[in-house]
Amino acid sequence: MPPIDLRSDTVTRPTPEMRQAMFEAEVGDDVYREDPTINRLEERAAELVGKEAGLFVPTGSMGNTIAIKCLTTHGQEVISDARGHLLDYELAMTAWFSGCLIRPIPTVDGILSWEMIAKQIRPLGPNAADTGCIEVENTHNLAGGTVYPQEVLDEICDQAHERGIAVHMDGARLFNAATTTGQPVHAAARRICERVDTVMFCLSKGLGAPVGSMLAGPKAVMERARRYRKRLGGGMRQAGILAAAGLIALEKMPLRLHEDHANARLFAAGLMQIAGIRVEHPEPATNIVIFDIGGTGKSSKEISDALKARGVLINGFSPTAMRAVTHYDVSSDDCQQALATLADVAGC
Ligand SMILES: *Cc1c(COP(=O)(O)O)cnc(C)c1O
Repeated sequence: MPPIDLRSDTVTRPTPEMRQAMFEAEVGDDVYREDPTINRLEERAAELVGKEAGLFVPTGSMGNTIAIKCLTTHGQEVISDARGHLLDYELAMTAWFSGCLIRPIPTVDGILSWEMIAKQIRPLGPNAADTGCIEVENTHNLAGGTVYPQEVLDEICDQAHERGIAVHMDGARLFNAATTTGQPVHAAARRICERVDTVMFCLSKGLGAPVGSMLAGPKAVMERARRYRKRLGGGMRQAGILAAAGLIALEKMPLRLHEDHANARLFAAGLMQIAGIRVEHPEPATNIVIFDIGGTGKSSKEISDALKARGVLINGFSPTAMRAVTHYDVSSDDCQQALATLADVAGC
């Protein structure tokens, strides 16, 4: 039996429909912009998030890297919350590629507010670097899949724009955020992105595509972004094979993300019944459950290893903090089974 894999929603495999579409995809050379399937995906993605243009990128990290490069100049600061993917999981690309410093702001749940940001915009003068852009992560990964309240996000964008500062959204799980609104998911995603300058979202996570993310924004910015993608080695050729899966990921898969959210709630509720485990958000907003196993007297590595030996994969990200992510390839039965295994492992 394959393991029950709750390490990440990146582990999802393409659906049979995606594989068929990949098999049949019409392709061309995308560096010449002659891949019709890529062109279709980029247009459709841009339209869905309400931006002028889209760019297919091999990874979300490359999308964020390119966006930050486009919105800043060397020697500026980028404001991010202190647990951002941009800060901790992208190999300091903001420094390496854009020559900018991240100004991290500690938050309770990964959600910035204009009030917090305003204090970190340094006054122009002889000493301080100016703020090039603000980066928001929606949903927030390490804070447990939390979602920006729309009015908080709108205020950040409006206030930033008044000061000539751009806003980039790391929307790796944008459609998970959109799902929580209770509105039709595509329209909700568009509303979330309405005021941000650029947005990146992943096709390769909960949406199930094998590879790829989208960057979207104003046409002129995306033209520059395309050149940076080439510089980073991301100019692909018959990438329509991937875009064919991406189109299905984009159109169909957002409609089922609520199932993953229900499974995450079920998993969190089950965790609360296990002695020694503390759950950060008893009702997770989306598909990520963060929990602390300190009370079991074991380390997250010990728990993770013991689970693995019994066919359940869950990773720790600190000596006592662990993260479980629900997705298309785990059912509610799988979640129940993972809970039973975890209860055994925690108690022995
Ligand atoms: C997964 C993720 C990314 C991008 O990851 P890649 O593995 O480079 O595609 C960016 N931001 C967040 C919040 C993520 O969870």
